Amino acid sequence: MSGSLSPGVLSIALTGGIGSGKTAVADIFYQLGKDQGLKLIDSDQIARHLLQGSIYHSPSQALLKVKELFGDELFEPDTGELNRAILRKKLFNSPENKTQLEALLHPLVYQSIFEQLETYRKQNNIHIVITSIPLFFETAYQTERSQYFDRILVVDIPEDIQLQRSIKRDHCSKELIQQIIDSQIDRNTRLKRADDIIDNSGTLQQLKSRVNELYKFYQKLAGRQ
Ligand code: ATP
Repeated sequence: MSGSLSPGVLSIALTGGIGSGKTAVADIFYQLGKDQGLKLIDSDQIARHLLQGSIYHSPSQALLKVKELFGDELFEPDTGELNRAILRKKLFNSPENKTQLEALLHPLVYQSIFEQLETYRKQNNIHIVITSIPLFFETAYQTERSQYFDRILVVDIPEDIQLQRSIKRDHCSKELIQQIIDSQIDRNTRLKRADDIIDNSGTLQQLKSRVNELYKFYQKLAGRQ
């Protein structure tokens, strides 16, 4: 990949399927690098943040658009806050609703990621930025958005472990996780497109050791070693 962020900042897109271990990987990187100029950006957290607040008090652009798209019934009548359970139901029952919401949110999420990256780029003490983007291949690969990233890091696990860990974490049915896996890009394509791969089929200790190795590699790429 050819990144354009800056020679002094290595920008990495961290991706992988549901329950593959992106959060675990990001946490380990953070522990290793937080005192040496490593920053994390979390696209899920940005998306959640965009939908916070009330439609009654200076609502965000995203909240207003959601209201426009799905109507008032998605909002608590007393507080004006988004009822995420009703939203989830609406999305679950209609792929069309899901596509519409994604079309609305993704540009705003990327805009926020790029602003954050630009801010970090201007700070001399920041050398590596890891942005967790679960749907990177579905939303950014080979588009202008990918210019902001020097490397694509994929966290990979076989589907049986993916199901097992996701069911355990989310306390939900196998069918639901399977449905999400099937809606995401397939494992082989993800692996083929990766610059770096973390196999997370082993223990957390093994994961730590792999991330450690990769961190040293990234430090070299960022000119820090
Ligand atoms: P999502 O895309 O759904 O947010 P994720 O890719 O961020 O998921 P995690 O939440 O990091 O995945 O991991 C999924 C679950 O698997 C978590 O409960 C996590 O603690 C567990 N887990 C991650 N790596 C390992 C491992 N090597 N051994 C055992 N459990 C693991």
